[in-house]
Amino acid sequence: MTERLQPRRPPFDVTSCRGSASCAGDAPGRGGGCPHMILDPGDLAGRISVLLRRRLNAHQSHSAHNVLRVALSGCPNSCSQPQIRDFGLQARSPVEITESPCLYCGACIDACPERFVELTDAGPRFSDDCLSCGRCVKACPSGTLRNGAPGWTLLAGGKLGRIPRLAVPIGHYLDDDDVMERIEAILTAYLDADEGEEAEKDDTERRTAQRARVNPRKPGERLRTWLDRTKWAANLPAVTGKVLAEQTTDLRGKQKTSLG
Ligand code: SF4
Ligand code: SF4
Ligand code: SF4
Repeated sequence: MTERLQPRRPPFDVTSCRGSASCAGDAPGRGGGCPHMILDPGDLAGRISVLLRRRLNAHQSHSAHNVLRVALSGCPNSCSQPQIRDFGLQARSPVEITESPCLYCGACIDACPERFVELTDAGPRFSDDCLSCGRCVKACPSGTLRNGAPGWTLLAGGKLGRIPRLAVPIGHYLDDDDVMERIEAILTAYLDADEGEEAEKDDTERRTAQRARVNPRKPGERLRTWLDRTKWAANLPAVTGKVLAEQTTDLRGKQKTSLG
């Protein structure tokens, strides 16, 4: 018979992209100091690990499958694949247009791999699909473009497995404290719901689970299930006590898209 139990390990996994200085030791000569870095994920990754250790401690899983996964990336290139994690973070910096006259040199267009910026009679104009990566800003010789205040895009609900799904953004340009507050709010609602459901299970169901030697709590798997079942995208404002609609839908909210 296949052994289903795995050695006990933390029920979470927090990964930063290799551009993070905190990852420099993982790949000598390759980690840290990435030129595309907008925010270094190291400190925030540490805070999230502490939070998950504290909140999930009572939910230790015996299964190698039941891991709540978090990935942080220092820019929209998303090398740590935050789109397929329970929680994902991408650093972004909105492009701002200053009063400095545009030289119409086209350097910003050349710098953008996706051509999300164009030149008009009124100067540069940005597509709604712009990723706020800041490459065009670095290329601009006139100071017409500048970086706005950087922040994190928080994603939730991504997975691979049998039915893959990309995580959905639930906030843009968040600071570290805001990210922590939202993750903890979601975790609290999820774990509270889990406690209630466990209490409602009858003894037979509990004994069956124990016989199968499967821990009834599956933080990683069940967070995603719970998010779906509770129609979380609609309910998160109530869950977190925040009005998220604006940040959920508008990545460009803090970005002036043209001179006009
Ligand atoms: S996600 Fe961005 S900052 Fe991190 S390693 Fe990739 S390119 Fe560099
Ligand atoms: S900030 Fe937007 S327009 Fe500029 S390079 Fe990045 S994706 Fe392209
Ligand atoms: S915005 Fe800057 S990089 Fe773009 S055309 Fe004008 S001067 Fe050149």
